[in-house]
Amino acid sequence: MLALLVFEVFFSKRAWCRYACPIGLTYGVVGILSPLRIKYTLDDCFHESDCRKVCLVPHVLDTVIKGSAIHTEVPIGPDCTSCGLCIDTCPTGSLKFEVKGLSKLM
Ligand code: SF4
Ligand code: SF4
Repeated sequence: MLALLVFEVFFSKRAWCRYACPIGLTYGVVGILSPLRIKYTLDDCFHESDCRKVCLVPHVLDTVIKGSAIHTEVPIGPDCTSCGLCIDTCPTGSLKFEVKGLSKLM
């Protein structure tokens, strides 16, 4: 526990949630298998990070940080629970649900 605490404080915020929590792991597997995911589109993004403030796993939205996106359209990672809070919060529509394999939906 001490080692985990030290790692959490000095090396990685939310390390337990990201790398060790069995519930997080379950969400990750469900996220990989789910046909639904969130897609980020860079073009209209303000980069003010309102989406990251409401997300319970904000590391999945690191791509919205200015200069982080490696493509103009980025699928959000499997740790995302598809709760949709970021979509409701985003003022520009830069985050949308999509069905894997279908380019335009919703
Ligand atoms: S859908 Fe929910 S969990 Fe996924 S990125 Fe948006 S706010 Fe975070
Ligand atoms: S809320 Fe929308 S506009 Fe703001 S940083 Fe997130 S994706 Fe970009």
